Amino acid sequence: MIRIYADYHTHTTYSDGKGSIEDNVRAAVSRGLKILAISDHGPQHLTYGIKRKKYAEMRGIIDEMNAKYPMIQTLLGLEANVMDADGRLDVDEGMLRMADVLLAGYHFGSLSGDLKGTSALHRLNFEGRLSRKAAERAKELNTKAMIKAMHNYDIKILTHPGAKGAIEIMPVAEAAIATHTALEINANRHGHLTFEDLLMLRNSACLFAINSDAHRPEMIGRFEPAIERALRAKIPCNRIINCLKSEEEAETAEGVKVPEKAGEV
Ligand SMILES: [Zn+2]
Ligand SMILES: [Zn+2]
Repeated sequence: MIRIYADYHTHTTYSDGKGSIEDNVRAAVSRGLKILAISDHGPQHLTYGIKRKKYAEMRGIIDEMNAKYPMIQTLLGLEANVMDADGRLDVDEGMLRMADVLLAGYHFGSLSGDLKGTSALHRLNFEGRLSRKAAERAKELNTKAMIKAMHNYDIKILTHPGAKGAIEIMPVAEAAIATHTALEINANRHGHLTFEDLLMLRNSACLFAINSDAHRPEMIGRFEPAIERALRAKIPCNRIINCLKSEEEAETAEGVKVPEKAGEV
């Protein structure tokens, strides 16, 4: 059985989600979750990234939530964008100091200061839809970018690996193992990691995280498609960082930096 007690990947109106932070907290409480992370899109995304200067405001609201809803631990996260082939993320020191947990993934439409590096990655991913040769080069570059990002930053979870830009799963998983990064089994409709990925990783030491990637409060804690893939691929609970192994464990997040009390990071 796989029972998930933490949803580390949820969006709010600070990026392209539909609910407020409090809406997400209430939804998570009603789903019986013990831990919720608000992980909106990184600021360099052209259309739906958070405003950098709003991050402190989010921190303040989350501290209030922890005081108001003590039955759940609410974390400030971020779904940072992997922006270029060097694995740079759109997160600065100030944000990292405020964050409780860092997630990262690749999305089209995120621009870094290094326009050449960024556009090479996006261009190849775009061209990859049209030509097989470009698709292969894109895959190679995406793989490199993910590996470098995991070595450059303390990323807890790599979101939907392979969903928005194809990757070689084995080298990404090796880097994930070396850097203690969990690969996400995302419950959203794009379906990554895929069942095939999971089959390939079943006998590796790779860790996973099952998340909803909810963009609406009512989708928080809806993990069914991801759980179904994990079960079908026979991924055991002890390889999934937010799978409930015992009741006590639900009280603390395994390996996640959790503030001693609200506001302390
Ligand atoms: Zn995403
Ligand atoms: Zn997301």
